[in-house]
Amino acid sequence: MNAQPVIFDGHNDLLTRLWLSSAADPVHDFIYGTLPGHLDLQRCKEANWMGGLFSIFLPPYAYVKNNQPDKLANPSHSDFTPQEIVDICCEQLKLAQQLQARSDGQIQICTSLEQIQACQQNKQLGIVLHLEGAEFLAIQPDLLDMFYEAGLRSIGPLWNRKSLFGDGLNASFPHSPDTGSGLTTQGKDLILKCSEKQMLIDVSHMNERAFWDTLEIACQPIVATHSNAHTLCQQARNLTDQQLAAIKQSDGMVGVNFDVAFLRADGQRNTQTSLDVIVDHLDYLIDHLGEDHVGFGSDFDGCLLPDELSDISQISMLIERMQQRHFSDQLIEKITSKNWFTVLDKVWQ
Ligand SMILES: [Zn+2]
Repeated sequence: MNAQPVIFDGHNDLLTRLWLSSAADPVHDFIYGTLPGHLDLQRCKEANWMGGLFSIFLPPYAYVKNNQPDKLANPSHSDFTPQEIVDICCEQLKLAQQLQARSDGQIQICTSLEQIQACQQNKQLGIVLHLEGAEFLAIQPDLLDMFYEAGLRSIGPLWNRKSLFGDGLNASFPHSPDTGSGLTTQGKDLILKCSEKQMLIDVSHMNERAFWDTLEIACQPIVATHSNAHTLCQQARNLTDQQLAAIKQSDGMVGVNFDVAFLRADGQRNTQTSLDVIVDHLDYLIDHLGEDHVGFGSDFDGCLLPDELSDISQISMLIERMQQRHFSDQLIEKITSKNWFTVLDKVWQ
């Protein structure tokens, strides 16, 4: 393959990073300048990274309190107020809208495969809005419709915290994904509602029981946007062979997470991690899911990357490593974009 392939990525945390930023105008910096972190528009364009699923996410309270206490109404509290939870998610949606509005046509929120393909053709950045953890819908359920109207087409109802929708997934390493109860009645209702809206449903942060509940309720391709193989790295958030078989059966897919702690056999947050380990997970997932069901789910701007892949500008190093490991051009194209296009099209039709 001569040119760098187009990359469409299953997961990034840019919107949360923009929300957390202390810069005067982080949206401007992303579009026209340099933004510290893994992504900004210039670097994305140079890397042929055309976008993917952009997460709207409520960061842990302690993280915000320690890093950006100005973002909190009262940093002496021990947790967000319900209003703060709603506000934070609405502010991240607004940041996505500003990215589009202030980009001179360079950035587009997409709700169909046609729009994504148009972005690819016109060299625009395509944003598919994704919700990671749905706590704010427990506070104000009608916001699901509002967010859908604004373009939300993908949801991961649970994160690490316990919520109205189910237990979170928070376990030490090593651990099986079986860490608690499954979905609550409200959690099951939410899956059903999102499925009826033909939204993508993401199981990346679900414990095993919630995973099986979801597969039973949602009759559609199920995805794990940013998870790896549990056999190779025994984080609770990685997927067992039985889970992989079920995702394959649903015609869904898995996006490989580049976070070192979800890649390494020892689970350590050690950035001296070879890119071969990412390729090992890709290989394993392809063996278990088939080559049409695996993609990238980088977790850019929300993860600890291997040194060799310090930000989006180094993504060609990973592509080269895949080539060295005898991935064909056709297979690389499937992993870097085509498989995500196929699954989004199937779910959204
Ligand atoms: Zn995540």
